[in-house]
Amino acid sequence: MTYKYKYFIANWKMFGDFSSFKIINLVNNYINKIKSKKSRIIFCVPSTLISYFSNRLKKSNIFIGAQNCHYLDEYGSHTGSINSKMIKSAGAKYVILGHSENRIEGDTDNLINNKIKSAIKNNLVVIFCIGETLNQKKQNLTNKILSMQIDKGLRLVKSLNKIIVSYEPVWSIGTGKIPTHKELNNAVSFIKYKLNKKFNNKHSVKIIYGGSVNVKNIGELITIQGINGFLIGGASQSAKKFIDILKNCYK
Ligand code: PEP
Repeated sequence: MTYKYKYFIANWKMFGDFSSFKIINLVNNYINKIKSKKSRIIFCVPSTLISYFSNRLKKSNIFIGAQNCHYLDEYGSHTGSINSKMIKSAGAKYVILGHSENRIEGDTDNLINNKIKSAIKNNLVVIFCIGETLNQKKQNLTNKILSMQIDKGLRLVKSLNKIIVSYEPVWSIGTGKIPTHKELNNAVSFIKYKLNKKFNNKHSVKIIYGGSVNVKNIGELITIQGINGFLIGGASQSAKKFIDILKNCYK
């Protein structure tokens, strides 16, 4: 099923303070100007900014997301942690889970699965990141890794309604390298096939791509069948770069 709009999801990573709202403001001005109903813009910002930004965006078409959460949804003795219930109450509607930068720092598939279940329970939409490393790609293991990450990450998840799967090859994040048209087509088709099989074709599948998306490659990326949008890291920290990406999609 083709989805009704394209997602443009900014992953700000460890970037931004209150003054960075000006970036979102400029993006907001741009989307108001073009009046496009074809895009859903989400800024996944550091937890320190969720509440302030969500309040300022209440009357806009831009949504706020978090970048990770604890797996427990009750309060507890977990110094420095924030759970999905707290994220939700701060005003976020989305949360990125399974990002390779968090996997490298210790998020296992099992932990990611528990985080996903807790986020869904608290009514957040999960941007679930999966992707192979360069080594795995060289060994032709891409589909095997994607399949395993989907099976483990979505274990006991009953519906895809609150899941956006983001295909993010680890080797493309922040490197300027993107998969070839054929590689991306294959990966996206495989993810779609896998999700349809796992969920008995019952739910609409939303798949986005992330990894070095920029103004130069968006024209090519947008032509790939089955991609419902993009997760944009580095380029989303600049209003100009982010807006230029949007412009290239809607020209
Ligand atoms: C990301 O970290 O999710 C990402 C897509 O980063 P970048 O666009 O910088 O490669």
